[in-house]
Amino acid sequence: MGLNLLPDGLDFVLEAPCASWRETMSVRQRTSIPILLDELVQTDDDLMTAIAQDACDGVGLKISKQGGLTPSCRQRAIAQAAGLITSIQDTVGSEIAFAAVLHMAQSTPRNMLRCALDTRSMVEKPIAEFDAPVRKGGATSPNLPGLGVEPDMAKLGEPVAHYGRGV
Ligand SMILES: [Mg+2]
Repeated sequence: MGLNLLPDGLDFVLEAPCASWRETMSVRQRTSIPILLDELVQTDDDLMTAIAQDACDGVGLKISKQGGLTPSCRQRAIAQAAGLITSIQDTVGSEIAFAAVLHMAQSTPRNMLRCALDTRSMVEKPIAEFDAPVRKGGATSPNLPGLGVEPDMAKLGEPVAHYGRGV
């Protein structure tokens, strides 16, 4: 395998090197280069399978991919218990999605946080104010209630659904 021809000491990981579990496990057995899984891990069960099979050194948690903030936080706890490193991301997203990513990243123990993805750079038009500029490669969420965002309701338009009391 070509990976084994690389010199020792290179600082990189293989993120989602294969589309299937079978191929991933094959690569895992053939290299000592750290592997991070991404799309193969969507559910709690996927993550527990990865841990049980020692399939990876870390996992990319994308809040939408994992099913929202609650399962993402649960999976982060599972990953932490197994000693996996995590990237906190989303598949794509606005300022609102990034606010969730940043809050989750800030509450992740630093020794298990690989990176947080600024999804704001993936969309063209802002839909909310979120005062968390990137400085020196990092950002800090504002100390405000909730996600700390101010949505632009005119850009969001009419709600497609209502939830909660009094609606
Ligand atoms: Mg990825």
